[in-house]
Amino acid sequence: MSLDRVARDKLVRALAASMIQHAEELTSLDQAIGDGDHGLNMKRGFEAVLAALPGLADKPLPEMLKAIGTTLVMKVGGASGPLVGTFFMELGKALPEQPARADLVAATDKAISAVKARGRSDAGQKTLLDVLVPVQTVLSEGGDGNAIAAEATRAAFRTIPMLAIRGRASFLGERSIGHMDPGSRSVSLLIGAAAAILEREADS
Ligand code: ADP
Ligand code: MG
Repeated sequence: MSLDRVARDKLVRALAASMIQHAEELTSLDQAIGDGDHGLNMKRGFEAVLAALPGLADKPLPEMLKAIGTTLVMKVGGASGPLVGTFFMELGKALPEQPARADLVAATDKAISAVKARGRSDAGQKTLLDVLVPVQTVLSEGGDGNAIAAEATRAAFRTIPMLAIRGRASFLGERSIGHMDPGSRSVSLLIGAAAAILEREADS
C-alpha cells in the first residue's frame, strides 16, 4: 500500500469530515450515557488536525499519523482524546512508509495494545475497544475495505446491549445497557472513512 501526498491529504480530510459531520449524533449518544461532550471533543480535535493541512500531508505516512495522534491527545478533552490519540501515535510508530497488509496487521495490533494499557481496559467493557478489536480481527483475516467497514458498523451496534465497565458510562451501571457507546460509534465512523479511501487507492 502506497499513499502519495494527494491520497494522504484525502485520508485526513475524510477522517475529519466523518467526525465533523457526525458531531451532533455523537453528542446525543454521549448525552444518553455520558456527559454529552463527545461530539464536540472529536470535532475540536479533527478541526485542529485539518488546520495542520497542507503541511500535515507532506509528511510520510508514519510521521503524519504520529502528528494526528499528538494533536488529538492535546486538543480533545475527555477520555477519548488520549485513547484515540494513542491509537494514531502508536500506529505511526509501528508502520513503515509503504506498509504491506502484514505491516498494517502488526501495527494495529500494537496500537490496540497501547490503547488497552492507557485505558486499563479490554474488549467487552462497552468502549471503543469493542470496535477496534473485532475490526483488527477482520483485517488480520484478510478482509477487504468493505468487510472492514461493515464489521466496524456492526461492532458499534453490538455495544448497545453491553454493560459499561469503563469510562463515564460505567457510573450508570445497568442503565448503560440499551445505548450505543459513543466512542465506538466515532471509531466505526473513522474506520469507515479510512477504509473507503484505502479501497479507492487500491483500485487506482
Ligand atoms: P469523557 O468520557 O471523558 O466525557 P468522551 O465523551 O470524549 O470522554 O469519550 C467517551 C468514550 O471514550 C466512551 O464512549 C468510550 O468509548 C471511551 N472510553 C472511556 N473510557 C475508556 C477506557 N478506559 N478505555 C477505552 N475507552 C474508553
Ligand atoms: Mg463525554
